[in-house]
Amino acid sequence: NIIVVGSTNMDLVYLVPHIVKAGETLHSTKHELFFGGKGANQAVTAGQLGANVDFVGNVGADDFGEQIIQNLQDKGVNTAAVQRVGMTGQAIIQLADSGENSIVLFPGANFLVTPEQIEENTERIASSDVLLLQLEIPMPAVETAANIASQKNVKIILNPAPAQQISDSLLSKVSILTPNETELAILTGLKTETEEDLFQACSLLLQKGVGAVVVTLGAKGAYYMNHYEHGHVQANKVIAKDTTGAGDAFNGALTVGLCQGNSLKDSILYASTVSAYVVTQMGAQPSIPSSFHVNNI
Ligand code: ADP
Repeated sequence: NIIVVGSTNMDLVYLVPHIVKAGETLHSTKHELFFGGKGANQAVTAGQLGANVDFVGNVGADDFGEQIIQNLQDKGVNTAAVQRVGMTGQAIIQLADSGENSIVLFPGANFLVTPEQIEENTERIASSDVLLLQLEIPMPAVETAANIASQKNVKIILNPAPAQQISDSLLSKVSILTPNETELAILTGLKTETEEDLFQACSLLLQKGVGAVVVTLGAKGAYYMNHYEHGHVQANKVIAKDTTGAGDAFNGALTVGLCQGNSLKDSILYASTVSAYVVTQMGAQPSIPSSFHVNNI
């Protein structure tokens, strides 16, 4: 089984003729609510793919919080360890006719996840096969979860998003690191344009003790490297409608593939198929039907 320690958000999307300027008041032509937050998105992906998933994190003590818990449960995620505190995290998204967007992120309850709260879930983490982490909750909470997992020999998959620096101590505990190109560049301080650049940047991370690196490259697929092999997996060809959440679907599915005992490469192929499906659907939270079936695994 999988345990996700991470964030939950409500995404408030407003369609606007253009991104609002300083001092301007603008009418929005359409408003939509989506469930979001990288942690919740990845947990829901894994839940919809049939995995046994536990979620540790916070929602607000408000209506959004209640809706988020209900949604997690509906998608097959165990919410016994979800705490209700403060206000639900929100992403306020302006989506312009031109396709441009601008986002105000209010972390709310996500920034109230504490190391003590994670420690209270030691048993839950210890009894899991894989711990899946992102960086939308405070770093001390992420580090506490990783310390517990590494002491208990639980595999750690870290999606280092949103982009930020990570200590060598945390990196050395990670089994699989899943940056996109931007995150890889920030983590290593190296270029990530060519396959040779990717080779160098991933090599540096392996030297720091990371077990394997899987770099997601959007429509270009994914590049991977561990101590035995490296290579490139093409993205599945689809007509993309909304690429928000592609990375989250990829991480959730990759974790499920590995948990089922598949090789790294086969798990990447599986994650590519799932995330390619997700970019053909609207909304940040992967709208994966529970009957979703992938033939190549
Ligand atoms: P993030 O959203 O975190 O930046 P990416 O954009 O790299 O992540 O996308 C993650 C994965 O989703 C890619 O590795 C790829 O497999 C899949 N994907 C993303 N965009 C497309 C696309 N336009 N067509 C097909 N697959 C895509």
